[in-house]
Amino acid sequence: MNIIRDEIKSRIKMPELLRHYGIDIVRGRIKCPLHNGTDRNCGVMPDYIHCFVCGESADQISFVMKHFNITYNEAISKINDDFCLGLSTDKVDRRQLIEYSRRQFEREKERKAEERKRQRVFEKYLDAVSLYLFCDRIIKCSKPKNESEELNNVFVYALHNYERAKYELEIAESEVIKINGKSKCFINEC
Ligand SMILES: [Zn+2]
Repeated sequence: MNIIRDEIKSRIKMPELLRHYGIDIVRGRIKCPLHNGTDRNCGVMPDYIHCFVCGESADQISFVMKHFNITYNEAISKINDDFCLGLSTDKVDRRQLIEYSRRQFEREKERKAEERKRQRVFEKYLDAVSLYLFCDRIIKCSKPKNESEELNNVFVYALHNYERAKYELEIAESEVIKINGKSKCFINEC
């Protein structure tokens, strides 16, 4: 039954389900169906509702159970019928299981690819930071004290790479900010 529950939850989102059953959503809020509230104190999320007065939550299936006063299995069948999902509810058939597994596999693959992409952005940023800090420190600390002092190789290297390091750091920073969203620009805070 879990496969069917997951299928329902991934295919029918809470707002669509509520509207289908005649529940009016205003600015993401509804009158709480869990304690029969009269004010719009119940928030609607993609996969559940949560009431800020009674503290109860319900997902798609538990909402239908409560709303129609029916059992879990009846709610599953009702959603399946009302939204023409074509899921076989009496037993898991193999075709359904294969399709479900394939979809799960694809989702997992996408999630991993996304994760790798994020990892690369952070790695690049850390590399850029360390090169920049290195050049910056060397330039400040190993500056020759007078004209006659011979330039050491590390100082020359830092001098050559400083502008490039600064440029690369800016690029890497903007990539990190893109990933974290503009509102969370923690880099400027430090
Ligand atoms: Zn409530």
